[in-house]
Amino acid sequence: MNDFSNRITKLFGIEYPIIQAGMIWASGWRLASAVSNAGGLGIIGSGSMYPDVLREHIRNCKAATKLPFGVNVPLLYPDIDKHIAIIIEEGVKIVFTSAGNPKTWTGILKEKGITVVHVVSSSKFAMKSEVAGCDAVVAEGFEAGGHNGREETTTMVLIPAVQQAVKVPVIAAGGIATGRQMLAAMVLGAEGVQIGSRFVASEEASSHINFKNEVVNAKEGDTQLTMKQLTPVRLLKNEFCNQVQEAEKRGATVDELKTLLGRARAKKGMFEGDLESGELEIGQVSAILDDILPAGDIVKNVWKEFMSGLANPVKLV
Ligand code: NDP
Repeated sequence: MNDFSNRITKLFGIEYPIIQAGMIWASGWRLASAVSNAGGLGIIGSGSMYPDVLREHIRNCKAATKLPFGVNVPLLYPDIDKHIAIIIEEGVKIVFTSAGNPKTWTGILKEKGITVVHVVSSSKFAMKSEVAGCDAVVAEGFEAGGHNGREETTTMVLIPAVQQAVKVPVIAAGGIATGRQMLAAMVLGAEGVQIGSRFVASEEASSHINFKNEVVNAKEGDTQLTMKQLTPVRLLKNEFCNQVQEAEKRGATVDELKTLLGRARAKKGMFEGDLESGELEIGQVSAILDDILPAGDIVKNVWKEFMSGLANPVKLV
């Protein structure tokens, strides 16, 4: 039995301060419950779910684990009020909000006794989240996949900056897939880590197998932060990403970019497995992933490597 305990394990009632990121088209109830059952915090990514689908995932997750789990709500989602109502009705205890203003929903969720964490990419937004009443913040750096900050602050710089700016616990994200990366983040002042890409390459992720294989085959330099004029996202380079970059180089307008993006690009790439014309959101850390594993093994491996790194953190010769 693990006897580690800090503000993050206590806040969520979990064994290890390892949180699986909410990711559209990847993190349904299977992944979330597997992570929670392994002692981390599993999160259902609601951003790609219609309201009824979210309700089904929450119910399935409750049936698959008796341990705490959460729901990630990207605040740019079109049916946000319906999602929030379902989360409250279904008795979800932990909500991670992202991609929007933490002031809008935190108070309402907190009134219902829900623990609220907001994902930020700068100290400024971390402070706003604290003022809004969030219980913790996820500080997500430039290396992260999918949605990203405009300022391009790296995890290495962001974690100590956010940690100094707020009193609530900081969860580090962006570029973390191993126990030693977790250790580095904790040395910088984080009290937990949020891991995304590593869990895309898991057996339980709902992403298409073509996408999972592409993630484990990715090398350094294979991802790019793009679409900064719309919503910045880090993508695996492919035909679609090249088209966006060419359009950006020739100075395409926001409307031209929206037309090029079209609808359901993310679903096409990550869920339907169209590797050329789909949108493939993944972090830089995909460069060091080379296998698809059960999510529970990922949690255990990260923790084991973290603990052994803690005993022997630096090479002295
Ligand atoms: P698009 O507008 O291109 O397409 C909408 C997609 O979201 C479709 O695939 C649709 O599924 C699905 N969807 C789920 N719920 C709804 C809903 N209530 N209304 C309309 N569509 C819905 O969006 P994206 O693919 O870029 O993003 C998918 C969703 O996730 C959006 O709601 C977006 O706000 C959110 N989101 C996007 C992120 C990103 O980086 N792209 C990150 C975080 C959240 P179907 O095809 O089955 O109709």
